[in-house]
Amino acid sequence: MDNIGVWMTCPMSKYLQDEIAKRFMLYKSWEIPSKPEFFKQHSNSIKAVVGNGSYGADSTLIEALPCLEIISSHSSGLDQIDLVKCKEKGIKVASTPDALTDEVADLAILLILATLRKICASHQFVRTGLWKQRDFELTTKVSGKLVGIIGLGRIGSAIAKRLEAFGCPISYYSRSKKLDICYKYYSNVIELASDCDILVVACSLTKETRHIINREVINALGPNGFLINIGRGGHVDEPELVSALVEGRLGGAGLDVFEHEPEVPEQLFHHDDVVLSPHVGSCTVETRKAIADLVVANLVAHFSNEPLLTPVEL
Ligand code: NAP
Repeated sequence: MDNIGVWMTCPMSKYLQDEIAKRFMLYKSWEIPSKPEFFKQHSNSIKAVVGNGSYGADSTLIEALPCLEIISSHSSGLDQIDLVKCKEKGIKVASTPDALTDEVADLAILLILATLRKICASHQFVRTGLWKQRDFELTTKVSGKLVGIIGLGRIGSAIAKRLEAFGCPISYYSRSKKLDICYKYYSNVIELASDCDILVVACSLTKETRHIINREVINALGPNGFLINIGRGGHVDEPELVSALVEGRLGGAGLDVFEHEPEVPEQLFHHDDVVLSPHVGSCTVETRKAIADLVVANLVAHFSNEPLLTPVEL
């Protein structure tokens, strides 16, 4: 398979690069100064793209690679891949869904606890010596809080399971009611937001879910409500979120993802009610290795004429 070209869209782990380079001809997009020139010479040998949740395969890249057969994504989110174009051209797509579910759900719990208990502010409080002058402020209890989850898929369900251990009643919003689930279903996000204390975004980013967290939803969640986003930055109307936090219309927010990563609105930096992480839902050594192995296994399966391990239905 070493004459098959694989285009990697951005720097990923050395382990993944090495595993691909052992089997295929790896082309690192970030090391190629003039892509149009490069594609003129090599596009016919590139049969696979490896992208991630930030740098996927848009229609321009797909059109530039006439021999493209498969996109093996290092991500479970598919919003950075032009799936319509893939279907049109018969290009297969594989993602890495289950490998990262636990890690992202763990991070959601971490953000809930850290945000409501203001753990970052209390850490600073100790480190800067303020504890010697006064006690830290009272914070908000997590156990027993009403939690609303937008998108009860793999990650949303794993978050719900963890929150059951905290005695939190769960409700959820998705396109349809799940028949085998006993959590309360809402067909309207605003109603879900007004009936919960903590609203967690865990759905896919699509045309329908872009800015699903808008002014109305934020106001429905209210000054005692908390927003947790481990989905995608595009789910939230960020300027609306910032003004709600600045104006005290929302209790707080725990955010792993942002609309224009790595740019983050600076107004969020000085808010004790906000906890920020740099899109690290799946960033543990164990999970990143499992994801990398799955990306490679999907490529190998495809070029061995075997079924993909984790295909995306187009
Ligand atoms: P999944 O199993 O496919 O679940 C996606 C959920 O989104 C489904 O429950 C689906 O519910 C819901 N959904 C889709 N369209 C919707 C709509 N229009 N309105 C309401 N709900 C809708 O995916 P997953 O593995 O749980 O991952 C979920 C998302 O997490 C990914 O798409 C990705 O963006 C994000 N993610 C983030 C990180 C991170 O590092 N922070 C890491 C991995 C993934 P219905 O089909 O019932 O409507």
